[in-house]
Amino acid sequence: MKKVGDDEYVIHLSGLKNGTQAFSFYVDKNFFEYFENQDVIDADVEVSVAVEKTGSCILLACKSTGTLTVPCDRCLKDLALPVDFEYNVTVRFVKDSGEDVDSEDSLVLEAGQADLDMRQIIYDYIMINLPLQRFHDIKDCDPAVISKMNFVAGRDAELNAVSPFAGLKDIINEK
Ligand SMILES: [Zn+2]
Repeated sequence: MKKVGDDEYVIHLSGLKNGTQAFSFYVDKNFFEYFENQDVIDADVEVSVAVEKTGSCILLACKSTGTLTVPCDRCLKDLALPVDFEYNVTVRFVKDSGEDVDSEDSLVLEAGQADLDMRQIIYDYIMINLPLQRFHDIKDCDPAVISKMNFVAGRDAELNAVSPFAGLKDIINEK
């Protein structure tokens, strides 16, 4: 099995020329195993990054497309979620890490840092773009699980119908 290499998701900043350069990264199941994320069953996501170097800043225009497979919240079977979103990250350099920088959508690196590991950025943006509720259309859910759920729900309803007033009813009827 191919492991996520330490170098596989790295952009060598020191080698960047002024202007725009294109990078491409592939995210699979191993990528999520690296982050010890058990929720992702499978992944097939392409991340393209246009890296634009302008003076002291580096702009990353990222686009993630593909499919992520997670368990359905309702029936627990595989659910393939489409991945298709874009985001921009600005890389700024500071002389010392205590320096105050407006860090919204920007990544702060110490001046002189030669490599940018893209793994955390790629991972974070995939996670925040995942829908909170993940399930199939009801017709696509595993029918065996759904009928079992309906059975349990039905039985619970029956139990509720029996108690707590059933006993009371008997008492009333006795009078
Ligand atoms: Zn389902």
